[in-house]
Amino acid sequence: MGGTFDPPHLGHLIAAQSAWEQMELDEVWFLPTYHPPHKNHQVVATANQRLQMVKCCTVDHPAFRVCDVELKTRETSYTIKTMEQLQAQYPAYEFYFIIGADMIMYLPQWFEIEKLINMVTFVGVKRSSTVIDWDALPPEIAKKVTMVSMPSIDISSTAIRERLKRGQSIQYYVHAGVNEYVKGNHIYES
Ligand code: ATP
Ligand code: MG
Repeated sequence: MGGTFDPPHLGHLIAAQSAWEQMELDEVWFLPTYHPPHKNHQVVATANQRLQMVKCCTVDHPAFRVCDVELKTRETSYTIKTMEQLQAQYPAYEFYFIIGADMIMYLPQWFEIEKLINMVTFVGVKRSSTVIDWDALPPEIAKKVTMVSMPSIDISSTAIRERLKRGQSIQYYVHAGVNEYVKGNHIYES
């Protein structure tokens, strides 16, 4: 599951949990991106802070892991490159890629998507207020997306950053460990 995780929140965790359960995955790897191609706004927290936050909210789950390959390259991350690297490193593994519904309509624009759809099955999770227009997606992409259900969690990292800017609490929006980390390091305060 790729993302900027700036910061990671309960929507991410419940999406991961839903995919893990319903797809009967062995593990879910959280893959923080250094700088995603589609995000033109600045990522606010540092790569290391995002990594630490993802670690502290996944450590208490038996099957959640953190994968720092994209952070290590320190450049714009293309999922196809990452998956080629991981598949070479773990040839016996079968990879899935978990994405929120808001990302599904953008799949046709992903770098070398025609290659990527032959390497991974996408696991799509619903995201409140996002409607997926399946007819607008090329059928070869649509058939590589398996949807899983999850309760609508109308939380985004953007909304969390805005709450913090306004001095509001993010308790219950994020894992308690993330809340502590954000407070202790004064991230997103201005
Ligand atoms: P931002 O507001 O900064 O874009 P975000 O909340 O969208 O942050 P990302 O790190 O961009 O979080 O998302 C990583 C992945 O998690 C994406 O595939 C996204 O669609 C999915 N995701 C994020 N929040 C939710 C949510 N509340 N419900 C379902 N999926 C989500
Ligand atoms: Mg997003």
